[in-house]
Amino acid sequence: MRLSQLLMPTLREVPADAEIPSHVLMLKAGLMRKLAAGIYVYLPLGKRVLKKVEEIVREEMDREGSQEVLMSALIPAELFKETGRWDVFGPEMFKLKDRNERDFCLGPTHEEVFTDLVRNEVKSYRQLPLILYQIQTKFRDERRPRFGVMRSREFIMKDAYSFDADWEGLDESFNKMYRAYCRIFDRCGLKYLVVEADPGAMGGRDSKEFMVISSVGEAVIAYCDSCGYAANEEKAECLIESRDEEMLEIEKVYTPNVKTIEELVDFLKISPSKFVKTLIYKAKGKVVAALVRGDRDINETKLLNVLGIREEELELADGPLVEEVTGAKVGFAGPLGLKGEVTLVVDSEIPQLRNFIVGANETDYHIKNVNYGRDFKGDIVADIKSVVEGDRCPRCGAPLKIARGIEVGHIFKLGTKYSEALGATYTDEEGNEKPIVMGCYGIGINRTVAAIIEQHHDEKGIIWPMSVAPYHVIVVPVNVSDEEQKQIAEKIYNKLLEEKLEVLIDDRDVRAGVKFNDADLIGIPVRVTIGKKVKEGIVEIKLREREEVEEVKVEEAVRRVKQIVEEKLRELS
Ligand code: ATP
Ligand code: MG
Repeated sequence: MRLSQLLMPTLREVPADAEIPSHVLMLKAGLMRKLAAGIYVYLPLGKRVLKKVEEIVREEMDREGSQEVLMSALIPAELFKETGRWDVFGPEMFKLKDRNERDFCLGPTHEEVFTDLVRNEVKSYRQLPLILYQIQTKFRDERRPRFGVMRSREFIMKDAYSFDADWEGLDESFNKMYRAYCRIFDRCGLKYLVVEADPGAMGGRDSKEFMVISSVGEAVIAYCDSCGYAANEEKAECLIESRDEEMLEIEKVYTPNVKTIEELVDFLKISPSKFVKTLIYKAKGKVVAALVRGDRDINETKLLNVLGIREEELELADGPLVEEVTGAKVGFAGPLGLKGEVTLVVDSEIPQLRNFIVGANETDYHIKNVNYGRDFKGDIVADIKSVVEGDRCPRCGAPLKIARGIEVGHIFKLGTKYSEALGATYTDEEGNEKPIVMGCYGIGINRTVAAIIEQHHDEKGIIWPMSVAPYHVIVVPVNVSDEEQKQIAEKIYNKLLEEKLEVLIDDRDVRAGVKFNDADLIGIPVRVTIGKKVKEGIVEIKLREREEVEEVKVEEAVRRVKQIVEEKLRELS
């Protein structure tokens, strides 16, 4: 392809609303443009990268015996009403009506559509197991679309669904997808962690997320270098250490106007881990008091799961409600003597603590030497805390580390939730009718592209891994008015094309600096520069990922470039 003809509108300036490197670079390198909030269009270079990632995904899905299909993006409401998800999705679902006033949505995910296909076409155990997948556009009206294609409202997903006769079969399908995902992300040149995730609202058993480690990731991950344990924040646990201390006499202390943990630490000169804080919530109309150690945070997703309610059903209580429940000003809540119907949820660590301090439910007072069991009991004792760096690994006890991650893939054992709701059954060998056991498996294609850029860039631009680069090589004649440079460049370009490499030639009549900057910005892995030394029969080869330049004879150039490209492709295959 000739750069003089390629639609590659690179930008000098950083676009105003782009906050993270991948978003900035996808715009600057002319891979895509924004059409509306969370909606993007892809230009030729961007489209080629998407295609490369899709092709890797396809090859690895096919390798595990999964079969590609294509479902519709437009889905009749009835299907989602059968599983109850027409309402569950809420405002995230793009809903619309046809000319006859029938309800439809633009598919946010396709469990219902695949299960519908299978309930109609699969009747016997002989047709199982089955793994079907598609690569297709999904629509979600995200509350906060941001970071470019990381979280957009229209995006391409590879979604796969497995159908098995029993749970053992599902385990096998799940493991196949696990293997396929590892190969896919390896081939994309990504460094990632596979973490245990919260099955949450999807309902099901095992759930694992593939997380690309990156400071711009929205997810928080706890992981252990010693034993390999890794879990996302909503799932991560830690070892609880018990304190063997004698229980002391309970004691009320005067703490005038001392409301926050920081103020208490200052006032009583004791470490925050000696306090237990009480947070009052409104949970689906009821009052909940949640207790965690003073130096910890409550993980609201864990709390939601414990209470069995949804995100929109939980909120922190406002001042008047806190005062009503505690009979004190805000800042003095505690577990002893709360008024009215209050569900007490106690973090699993609290029963192991000794002689801690809590609010007294009386303005300006706290209580010292409180102990769980002796002084109060919870309605629910469960893990509701966020783990922090240095907490001990639940498996091996080593200190946990915390990192941020971008969720690029998600694999999930659904069980029979959808097959039961939609009546997808099969008859087994004995003629009994049974629900099909399902799994679902997603990869965000655009988000994967963005994640690759997050891990492969420098201040000059993108550094594509060879496997996903839009082109392998860029041939740059430094000065196109120099007839010799131009001719040699054209010759090398054509030979590389004959060798079936993907090649760009920068035949534009612009300054050398512009050419080099653009080549660096768009991140083509190999650059062949034809400059003044061509008079001595020499051209330069430079890898985008390295500083050094290799000089080769003109006749050697094609062979050497081909060797480099093939080697790099092999490393990522
Ligand atoms: P998240 O927690 O990031 O919102 P999710 O749990 O809603 O993701 P899934 O329903 O599991 O995502 O979708 C499968 C994959 O699709 C995700 O792993 C992610 O790579 C991708 N994905 C999901 N939502 C978006 C989005 N708004 N923009 C781009 N990719 C997305
Ligand atoms: Mg997820």
